[in-house]
Amino acid sequence: TGRITLGVRAVALHGDLVLLLIEDRTHSRRVEETRRDFVVNVSHELKTPVGGLSLLAEAVEDAKDDPEAVARFAGRMQIETERLGRLVREIVELSRLQVADTLHEPVLVDVGSCVVEAFDHVQLVADDRDIALVHALPPVPPQVYGDPELITTAVRNLVANAVNYSDAGTRVVATVRTLEEVVEIAVSDQGRGIPQEEQGRIFERFYRVDTARSRATGGTGLGLAIVKHVCVNHGGEVSVWSEEGSGSTFTIRLPLAVPEREAPAEPGEDV
Ligand code: ADP
Repeated sequence: TGRITLGVRAVALHGDLVLLLIEDRTHSRRVEETRRDFVVNVSHELKTPVGGLSLLAEAVEDAKDDPEAVARFAGRMQIETERLGRLVREIVELSRLQVADTLHEPVLVDVGSCVVEAFDHVQLVADDRDIALVHALPPVPPQVYGDPELITTAVRNLVANAVNYSDAGTRVVATVRTLEEVVEIAVSDQGRGIPQEEQGRIFERFYRVDTARSRATGGTGLGLAIVKHVCVNHGGEVSVWSEEGSGSTFTIRLPLAVPEREAPAEPGEDV
């Protein structure tokens, strides 16, 4: 379904002969549209922190005789600057993932270590909010082929969201298990949940269910888009199960790395 874009070129050959070349440009049109939308989104998103910083700079100027106010505005400038930095980093990360559909040089990755590292990144914020982080890893850690940093980033984004959209006193659990040829990483929370009708859209870049809440926790609206692209680039997928008021579970599924078999011994060789 959807529109198909065809390009037609006419090439004059000898005499009355004309060669018509018909080319399917559907894919390149889509890439072009995606790029254009991305630029529009990005400029819109950058306007907020940049505008905020500019207003704060003016406020500092006006309040120069009031050191307390200057300190307060400077603190807020610091927060906006951090937000801007995070936004730019995530924009760059997402565009890299979108441009390269595949991984550069995949290596064997221990999924359990990625989960542990992701937890390390989020632990301080979780402690601060009184949310317990728990992981359940299998005794023999499963491996996948891929980029350990990207997988850690994807898990970190899910754990950070689970913490950001939950209340104090709840827990966030990450479980790793192997199901036939797939490694599953599930991150569950006991948070506010996501309305059914929004669940299909949350993986779009800059889509937020509750913009105010996302901004209050320093969200950029890009976390889940990054998770999705990391999964796709690894030949996997991400899905969500959620119930409003009781919590959400995000599940990443990646192909299990099959260790290369040892070459069978040649007949007559000593084994
Ligand atoms: P953000 O930076 O806004 O968190 P994300 O792309 O990570 O952006 O998530 C998109 C939106 O999906 C969030 O703004 C939030 O509304 C919703 N969301 C993501 N994870 C959860 C979760 N664990 N519980 C409830 N809502 C969530």
